[in-house]
Amino acid sequence: MGTISTLRRPARSSSMSSARFQPQASASALEPQALAPASAAESTAVADLQQEFITEARFYKKLPEGKVRCLLCPRECSLREGARGYCRVRENRHGSLFTLVYGRVCAAHIDPVEKKPFFHYMPGSLAFSVATAGCNVNCKFCQNWELSQARPEDAPGESMPPARVVELARQYNCSTIAFTYTEPIVCSEFVMDTADRAHEQGLRAIEVSNGYIHKDALESVYGRMDAVKIDLKAFSDSYYRKVVVGELKPVLDTLVALVKLGKWTEIVYLLVPTQNDGDEELTALARWIKAHLGVNVPLHFSQFHPDYKMLDLPTTSVASLERARRIAQAEGLQFVYIGNVPGHPAESTYCPHCSRLLVHRSGYDIRQMLLCDGACPYCRLAIPGVWNT
Ligand code: SF4
Repeated sequence: MGTISTLRRPARSSSMSSARFQPQASASALEPQALAPASAAESTAVADLQQEFITEARFYKKLPEGKVRCLLCPRECSLREGARGYCRVRENRHGSLFTLVYGRVCAAHIDPVEKKPFFHYMPGSLAFSVATAGCNVNCKFCQNWELSQARPEDAPGESMPPARVVELARQYNCSTIAFTYTEPIVCSEFVMDTADRAHEQGLRAIEVSNGYIHKDALESVYGRMDAVKIDLKAFSDSYYRKVVVGELKPVLDTLVALVKLGKWTEIVYLLVPTQNDGDEELTALARWIKAHLGVNVPLHFSQFHPDYKMLDLPTTSVASLERARRIAQAEGLQFVYIGNVPGHPAESTYCPHCSRLLVHRSGYDIRQMLLCDGACPYCRLAIPGVWNT
């Protein structure tokens, strides 16, 4: 097996990666920088490789005159012969829609599950984390834009079909496979098959997603996951349209559907100074979560760092993150965390009843696990989550 890329920058958030896959001699070596696009000399080999990654899409319909409509995400791209969708990884070939990234992995790492972040899901376990190129939105602050906004042929790629992903996860004692870093929705066929394979082998599957999925595909895709983390980018449609190039409502609908499906769900909200951090918006966010998802869904307020097309704003202050947390707690949310600020006390879990420390975290490390059979050891309150690893 050849070399595959990993992401370039140090980890700060769920959507980033730095914990490097440490391969044994027999496994693929993963280098700490993104590969350059294929050179002219390499291009023939890359082109030859493409065929193995091309699989007919599962969510689309054929239209007259050789067109197709993709039904994987709310964009519903209508594509003429030879055209690609907004995500750059789905293409109309001879009147049928194909994914171009089935098993074409552009990044892979072994990460603690806390890095996704999941704080109430199998704490301390390892997730074999994979990504393929592409995304169905274009967040102006994306920290992985070199991969998420790339065409497959412009991104690194290594053949890693579902069976190989599961084999590597088992080899490195990862109990979970995570689809993450870019947007897993756009490679759902690969995600679904890998999740099925993982479950056959006694592993679990989790997805880190923007939640911008078509209602007709939602259950087939997320229904295969054991847990889903949704990046809720703001609580305003105008922000979604301007900064994310998406829409808010389908994401909210996804969150409601996930909870109805009984999937363990956590939410990350990247707090961007002056853009989505007003008291009113945060109050409305917390009220909506309480009313539609319940008070037990963990909410992570994550620190923004300037990146990609959003370089003119400062890093979110810790004071602002603490303010957001106070607002959400005042509305009744029980598990509100601060992310990307290693060592902050709000990385830890506290009992909502007796306020005692239950899980002491620092960065991605668990310093103390005091939960006892998923309950507070002091007052015996059951703490929602999946605690058995
Ligand atoms: S998944 Fe891609 S091709 Fe399909 S509708 Fe969304 S952006 Fe368009």
